[in-house]
Amino acid sequence: MIKLKNREEIELMRESAQLVSKTLGLMANEIKPGVTGLHLDKLAKEFIVDHGGIPGFLGLYDFPNTLCISPNAQVVHGIPNEKPFESGDIVSIDCGVLMNGFYGDHAYTFEVGEVDEETKKLLKVTKESLYKGIRAFKIGNRLGDIGYAIQSHVEKENYGVVRELVGHGLGKKMHEDPQVPNYGRKGRGKKFKNGMVLAIEPMINMGTHKIDQLSDGWTILTHDRKPSAHFEHDVALIDGKPRLLSTFSYVYEALGMESDEENEFLF
Ligand code: MG
Ligand code: MG
Repeated sequence: MIKLKNREEIELMRESAQLVSKTLGLMANEIKPGVTGLHLDKLAKEFIVDHGGIPGFLGLYDFPNTLCISPNAQVVHGIPNEKPFESGDIVSIDCGVLMNGFYGDHAYTFEVGEVDEETKKLLKVTKESLYKGIRAFKIGNRLGDIGYAIQSHVEKENYGVVRELVGHGLGKKMHEDPQVPNYGRKGRGKKFKNGMVLAIEPMINMGTHKIDQLSDGWTILTHDRKPSAHFEHDVALIDGKPRLLSTFSYVYEALGMESDEENEFLF
């Protein structure tokens, strides 16, 4: 059942999402060659707790850490470890927070040092597909329109859309209905309604869409071991339009980047 949120609940959810956004901003400041995922995980946990939140992933389905850290061929659900990042790596960091009784959950794929052009393009196109998906989340559309928007954008580049893992409704639970696939058919599936809050999160592989899972029971990686990217935003449907609860602005500030990509979704 899809739980619609009122404006007051959406405001509370925005606070949870923004704490995740700030945590990802901190990660952008810290991530560099030689740094380990476990170090980032510790920083993120302290930062979230210091700001009145509860790490949302820690213990969820028995996940052992605060962050999912998934470098290179890892798609999602990577477990932070002691292996230092190297120049040329891409690292997807997914973070969840529980605050005010509501979850925030979003993700960014970072470049470490000098990343090759082919991989940079994967990141660019995956992020573009996220915004195409968000733009399709509006009154008059249906669930399949999000997946169609994402899939049609990335398949032009012959990238693979992961099928087994999907976006989701967000609220008092981390994963609420509906499931939000990153592939789909226009005009199919449930109609969107005001008050829906979704975590939209394309997981896009440079090569095949097929995936494997490591024996740790968590880590998802590409079957061909080519790189994979993951960007995620928390989005509410208000007055017929998609409105961002999360922001990458803290990441961009840390990286010295400018962007107007979120302007059309502000409220
Ligand atoms: Mg996430
Ligand atoms: Mg999510």
